[in-house]
Amino acid sequence: AGSVVFDNVTKTYGKGAVTAIDNVSFTIQPGELVTLLGPSGCGKTTTLRMIAGLEHATRGKILIGGKDVTQLPATDRDVSMVFQSYALFPHMTVLENVAYGLTVTGVAKHEAREKAEEGLRLVGLEGYGPRLPSELSGGQQQRVAVARALVLEPEVLLLDEPLSNLDAKLRRQVRTEIRELQQKLGLTAVYVTHDQEEALAVSDRIIVMNRAVIAQQGTPRELYEKPASAFIADFIGDANLVDGTVIGIDGDMARIDIGGLNVNLQHRGQSPGPVQVAVRPDAIRLVQGETASDQSSLKGHILHAAYLGNHMQYSIASELGELFVIDGHIDAPRAIGDEVRLGFADRGLAVVAID
Ligand code: ADP
Ligand code: MG
Repeated sequence: AGSVVFDNVTKTYGKGAVTAIDNVSFTIQPGELVTLLGPSGCGKTTTLRMIAGLEHATRGKILIGGKDVTQLPATDRDVSMVFQSYALFPHMTVLENVAYGLTVTGVAKHEAREKAEEGLRLVGLEGYGPRLPSELSGGQQQRVAVARALVLEPEVLLLDEPLSNLDAKLRRQVRTEIRELQQKLGLTAVYVTHDQEEALAVSDRIIVMNRAVIAQQGTPRELYEKPASAFIADFIGDANLVDGTVIGIDGDMARIDIGGLNVNLQHRGQSPGPVQVAVRPDAIRLVQGETASDQSSLKGHILHAAYLGNHMQYSIASELGELFVIDGHIDAPRAIGDEVRLGFADRGLAVVAID
């Protein structure tokens, strides 16, 4: 497995009219699964296609396995790609589809056949070789596409929204299979998705992109627990963005007043003053009447309530604005119009912007 390095890469289309990637740098280590995550149009596919050599960088350098491939055509790069649309040949059998990439690179027929059978075994489709793609389900077709990419034993496996055409249950199943295979084979993989839950579930690290640049990169936990901006806090999981005031600093910890309540949070700025705080929906607690006081809780009233099986989902009006709250106490649900008292949990809050 090889590393992938982007060194100040810029890509423009239409003689510079569109900047799809703006001076982006990152390193993907051998054996890592890194996800490119971001809203539609942020440059994910362009980045992947540049790794594959299907697009060329306008400026900057791209290295695969330590080798400068910036000018190298796709056919000379040791990568293979899995597309959203599977892109299987409909008139070829499953086995022929998987073997195809091998035979065009000159692998002998019987050897290609053996490798293709091994590939189908890896993705749990042993025995499906003689069928046509149309005789398989969507999930099975996508597994064939994965097998076809794997048998080429690429230095880097690229996957562009590979699960978009599958329904929700199947998406969860196939993403787990892809992750297990990648770890078992020790592959370097670059995985593109716009689905944050999928990114959290499969990745060693996530590179979050927004408008042609990297917004933040880190492990799923780092991004969720230490979002560097309101954009990240809102994009990875849900967040209420509320105003707070830093009233004291001790090292990198800050005492912050939020609507009259005090919390201690990791702080990124220097001086006391206004900050924006991201508050996860499950970091807001509904405080029971007896223990509630003005010092330890905020007033609110329920605007919307929804029962979601294992938790309640509320929208609550408060002096901090309308708050989105998730509460696990399904046996004592609150009703629309109920007066409630709110407190903050010890985790699930982060300073995301300093004025
Ligand atoms: P994503 O995969 O994140 O949705 P893309 O990489 O496909 O984003 O696109 C990034 C930007 O580049 C978008 O503004 C898109 O319209 C533009 N773009 C992509 N491909 C081309 C192309 N071949 N010609 C012109 N503009 C393009
Ligand atoms: Mg795309």
